[in-house]
Amino acid sequence: MNKTSDLMSKRFNPLTGHGYIWVYARAYVRVFKQAFWYMSCNTYNKVSSADFNETYECVFCKFSHAVAVPRARVYVELEDLTGSLSGTMIGETAETFLQYTAKQLMDSGSEVLDKI
Ligand SMILES: [Zn+2]
Repeated sequence: MNKTSDLMSKRFNPLTGHGYIWVYARAYVRVFKQAFWYMSCNTYNKVSSADFNETYECVFCKFSHAVAVPRARVYVELEDLTGSLSGTMIGETAETFLQYTAKQLMDSGSEVLDKI
């Protein structure tokens, strides 16, 4: 079973509250004064105050050799003809949407904000 049909087989069931709903919408970045990345642990992607590549003990996953890595994140508004909703893209989805890797976003700082 491919990934799409696998997801379709798990359509949202309001009785159980589980499953997926497909949304076809345009994604907009409405707020440009946002950080498009955050520092995270490399094990469970939990936010970190450590410096890039620093090894530390993660307070969330308790892994004693977590490494701080940047992770892309962008707050977006998804809009179709019926309305809109706010959402957050994280990780590879955010990198694909923004067309920059988390490392590029971290290295570029506010320079990237002007290009989006
Ligand atoms: Zn962690």
